[in-house]
Amino acid sequence: MFLLISIYLSFSILTITTPYNIMNIVNIILNTINPLFYKTFYIVNRRGFPYTVHNIYYILKNQRGTSGVMHSKMRCVKKESYSRGISVATVGIPAPGPDEVLIRVRYAGICGTDLHTYKWDEWSQRRIKLPLIMGHEFMGEVCQSGENAGSFRLGQRVSAEGHITCGLCRCCKNGQAHICTDVKIIGVDMDGSFAEYVCVPEKNVWPVHDRIPDRYAALFDPIGNAMHAVMKNPVSMKTVLITGAGPIGLFAISIAKENGASKIIVIEPNPFKKVIALKSGADAVFSPDEDYLMNKILEVTGIDGPDVFLEMSGYLSSIRLGMDILCNGGTAILLGIPSREIPLNIAEEIVFKGITIHGITGRRMYETWYQSERFLLKAGKAVEPIITHTVNIDNIEEGFLLMEKGDAAKVLIEIKD
Ligand SMILES: [Zn+2]
Ligand SMILES: [Zn+2]
Repeated sequence: MFLLISIYLSFSILTITTPYNIMNIVNIILNTINPLFYKTFYIVNRRGFPYTVHNIYYILKNQRGTSGVMHSKMRCVKKESYSRGISVATVGIPAPGPDEVLIRVRYAGICGTDLHTYKWDEWSQRRIKLPLIMGHEFMGEVCQSGENAGSFRLGQRVSAEGHITCGLCRCCKNGQAHICTDVKIIGVDMDGSFAEYVCVPEKNVWPVHDRIPDRYAALFDPIGNAMHAVMKNPVSMKTVLITGAGPIGLFAISIAKENGASKIIVIEPNPFKKVIALKSGADAVFSPDEDYLMNKILEVTGIDGPDVFLEMSGYLSSIRLGMDILCNGGTAILLGIPSREIPLNIAEEIVFKGITIHGITGRRMYETWYQSERFLLKAGKAVEPIITHTVNIDNIEEGFLLMEKGDAAKVLIEIKD
């Protein structure tokens, strides 16, 4: 034992003081002595001495193994049955692949997509292969990096882009990776973030700014959807109609406000969400079934109608209303997903009005992330009223039921050790 420790210590000194090639040989020897030591010295090679000191400090502070992982098992939320519902299970902690980072999740957000999977509706039956750990909106701390992934410190606070793109298709190569033709989504096509730990490709990991709190950082994904939609067309000094005040619609209100929209009109039937829409900066909020709705909107926007229409609901009546009332030459930005085909009067509502229509999916990689970071730094408090509930992993079902009933906007899951 004494001999082993002496060999190890002498190699340690060698590793820090010798050139790169010799360090590689030392690494190989160390690797055969004890895999536990290998990881630390591998990082010395790649990242330099201070980086390793930080990692050792982190490991001692957290009393974890070399990787920063405390246990071999983790709690997670699984979709296992081909019917409505979910189960909370204990499974093995995944090991990161060579280009991946293992993240210990602190907060995850429940998205409408997760609700589809929970309900096991037509979309999820077509798309999802079981069993699956759900969830894609999250933030956490880095606790292990694969052998080719060394850009993040252990313990560093991060979020991640949940769309894993191929990098090879025409869209990826054209700087439009958000519409990659071979995209995989975490928590949909592969295990996700409703778990104590999640593995993500290093290229998708986003470092969280020190001044952005954990709870807000968990929302980069949906804030990014709203940001992408609002930034598609200038809204400064323009009147904006937003149909649907779910979390993305609500984020869009505060982002449009921050971007200098002159008036924001929101259409939403749910009284609970109507109140949050007003708190988020809407100038007027109407129910879709209100009498004289068109007149009420025109009273706010002026007789020509809104300049920009942001569709966040997917409902036929909202799409029709927005296209109808949008001013000539206006812009329609569609993000809500209708459950079936929608008939539209293309001649009257699009061609003769000279309307521009944009479809929005995901977030621009990574322009939207930079914009969302700036928004959270400047006006982060605006998202506070939108986070209406925080649950833990064992009572996550409560969160799904609140969302389904419309009694919640954004529900966060807090995941503790
Ligand atoms: Zn989402
Ligand atoms: Zn691609």
